Amino acid sequence: MPKPKVFVTRKINPSAIEKLQSIADAEIWPNENPPPKEILLEKFAATQAVLTMLTDSVDHEVINRAPSNFKIISQMAVGTDNIDVTSATKRKIPIGHTPDVLTESCADFTWALITAIARRVSESHQEVRQGIWLPWGPDVLLGADLFGATLGIIGLGRIGLAVARRALGFNMKVLYFSKTRKPDLETKYNLQYRSMEELLSISDFVSLHVNLNQSTHHLINTDTIKFMKKSAYLINIARGKIIDPKALTQAIHNKQIAGAALDVFDPEPIQQNHPLLSCPNVIITPHIASASIPVRKKMAEMAVENILFALQNNPIPYCVNPIVYQ
Ligand code: NAP
Repeated sequence: MPKPKVFVTRKINPSAIEKLQSIADAEIWPNENPPPKEILLEKFAATQAVLTMLTDSVDHEVINRAPSNFKIISQMAVGTDNIDVTSATKRKIPIGHTPDVLTESCADFTWALITAIARRVSESHQEVRQGIWLPWGPDVLLGADLFGATLGIIGLGRIGLAVARRALGFNMKVLYFSKTRKPDLETKYNLQYRSMEELLSISDFVSLHVNLNQSTHHLINTDTIKFMKKSAYLINIARGKIIDPKALTQAIHNKQIAGAALDVFDPEPIQQNHPLLSCPNVIITPHIASASIPVRKKMAEMAVENILFALQNNPIPYCVNPIVYQ
């Protein structure tokens, strides 16, 4: 019996590939850039499983190329907003993802951004590199304090909660807004639920951890950003499209908020001449919140594990649309 064909849209950890090759005929896209749409269309038509990244646009047309014996779209990420989940579900195609393993690393990175923007780490480093090391002075590179400040978390899911847990070490007051209220977590971690408006108007740091969906697209826009304090910072490691980039650019330009630290942007990569890139009070990193060596290995292994289950006609362990099994 020939092995089932699988397409992997980027080079991933070799141990995961080895595991995949043991039961499948796996082809790995060799380039750093994602495969273009024609390639995705071709590969979906000719394989039984595709291991995707968040940069692959798996739309209705791509999904409809999959043959009737197609087993799984296995995404190596927790968010699956690049995949037309409705179309896949209609065709009873399970979608795998990689939750939990990246939660703590993403929370660590959120704190890297919060501390860096509050204490002007990137800006200071930049100055030193340029040969500017002003003599110690009472007013040189002053920033904001974290200790005792108020943190507002929008989206109290896995990563949002991991960010909140870390805030306790900074003696912060932690507010949250989420789709559902979570009284048990409020008691356990001393969290306070607020409406989004209230949270925005009280917090010193606002950190976004919602998944991207219709209700969170441009959740931060001209109307909502105006609730934020002039002294507050906006942090986004979730998805670029959760913030309207024009509204943020305007808010930074007009000094409506103190600064922003972003691991994601719309579009990615950001245009080289984007005005936010020349703002010292904005830090932008290239979508690396989960990029630790052990986490990326675990994510690759999980994505492969999902494929192995699907190819053996078993329900996959980490499924976005378990309704396909009903
Ligand atoms: P999660 O556990 O599903 O958390 C998402 C939370 O968003 C849920 O708790 C949900 O609230 C909340 N939510 C959804 N729609 C909402 C709305 N309209 N208003 C308020 N809250 C809403 O996911 P996670 O594992 O924490 O990951 C969160 C997101 O982070 C991912 O979807 C992904 O986009 C992003 N991410 C980015 C990176 C990176 O490299 N930068 C890495 C990993 C993940 P309820 O629980 O109240 O229903």
